[in-house]
Amino acid sequence: MSLRQLGKSISDAVRKFLRVPTADERAVNTLLKEIQRALIRADVNARIVADFTRKVRERSLSSEVPPGFSRKDIVLKSVYDGLVEILGEKKPTLQLVKGTNIMLFVGIEGSGKTTTVAKLAVLLKKRGYLVAVVCADDHRPGAYQQLLDLLSEFEIPVYWERGVKAPELAERGVKKFKEEGYKIILVDTAGRHKNEQELIEEMRVISDRIKPTHTFLVVDAAIGQFAYQQAKAFHEAAPIGGVIITKLDGTAKGGGALSAVVATGAPIYFVCTGEKLGEIEPFDPNGFVSRLLGMGDLRALSEKLHEAYLEMKRLKEAELMPEKFNLLAFRIQLQQARKLGPLTKLLDLLPGGLSLNLPPEVAQEASKKIDKWLVIMNSMTREELENPKIINRSRINRIAKGAGVYPEDVRELLSNYKRAKRMMKAFKSDRAAKRMLEKLTKSVL
Ligand code: GDP
Ligand code: MG
Repeated sequence: MSLRQLGKSISDAVRKFLRVPTADERAVNTLLKEIQRALIRADVNARIVADFTRKVRERSLSSEVPPGFSRKDIVLKSVYDGLVEILGEKKPTLQLVKGTNIMLFVGIEGSGKTTTVAKLAVLLKKRGYLVAVVCADDHRPGAYQQLLDLLSEFEIPVYWERGVKAPELAERGVKKFKEEGYKIILVDTAGRHKNEQELIEEMRVISDRIKPTHTFLVVDAAIGQFAYQQAKAFHEAAPIGGVIITKLDGTAKGGGALSAVVATGAPIYFVCTGEKLGEIEPFDPNGFVSRLLGMGDLRALSEKLHEAYLEMKRLKEAELMPEKFNLLAFRIQLQQARKLGPLTKLLDLLPGGLSLNLPPEVAQEASKKIDKWLVIMNSMTREELENPKIINRSRINRIAKGAGVYPEDVRELLSNYKRAKRMMKAFKSDRAAKRMLEKLTKSVL
């Protein structure tokens, strides 16, 4: 299954899920089963898939739904975050060391090592670094010629000697360029061996000898099933610091590449999308997943939800510490109340102490009032929301003008906020009193 097909299968499953009337456990399970099947068919390692499914199910079903969002939003965010997590959460940036950067490239034959070394050499040279390349391939003299052809016009020197073993080539080349003052030395290796064991062993020896500051595993996006095992084996021989995925332009099985990332624990630094020198780009997990699913707005949704969770946390803190209760917290309360409809919680906040069984007209009136207050709060500065004490008469006038209401409306909002704060304090001390009483009775009995 190609990467594009994987993306399509997942987004089809998501779209189907979005059409179900309620996002209950059954709907979530159906969605996850379909995504699971798509990932397995794209050759993502089974353990990774199981892990992904478990996490996404748990988050989808047990996360609280913040006001203004639905359970479906939570599920979407969980799927999106889960996929991004497989790929490494952050966009990694290449960290260079102060002295000589020695970058070793490993991977099986045909994965695209030589091409990638050339691409990266040119990229780094263009960024202004002194770059040199060592061809530590004693199996295929053509590799040296390949590098020369690609790099001569950029004046990037390439080292190789006939009849010298690969580890020796690597060591000599690194020594030579280091002495000549090159800041970045890229070491291309061979991939053609009798068996994988031998190849891995050679990488271990080379790594020991040149002590690379960076080791990149080059993985063909089409590798499929074996990526996980292979990446693990390389990682044990020469600890992999970063992964580079090649041939993402073809009809690639991207799943294998995902598995390689997880096997090494190393993030993807670059992806290559063609044979030409310029066809390399830094990897962005968020962008990749968005593109994979063909749903560009998922990232925004995920970020908005994240923000909402933070607000809910703040509100809970305020409930525990009434002295911290400010207009920001009050606003979240109102939003929640608005979302829930006219429930008891909301009524407590309203002027006049409305009764519980109120007629629908009154409830509607209350909702309208809350909407007005929310608009008013939009005209306040962050500072005012955080510290309502500073809201004096001139500020009230400014806020009223901005919100298109009367100053009395702003005052009404403020007095209700104060009332809510008082109630919170009372509620808290009430609880504290009860707890003390409980303790007391217990100690007496
Ligand atoms: P090596 O054996 O690991 O050094 O692999 P090479 O660099 O020699 O590449 C093997 C083949 O894959 C060559 O024909 C390259 O032109 C091709 N290749 C490398 N990277 C890419 C890529 O990102 N996209 C495509 N389409 N082909 C690539
Ligand atoms: Mg090569």
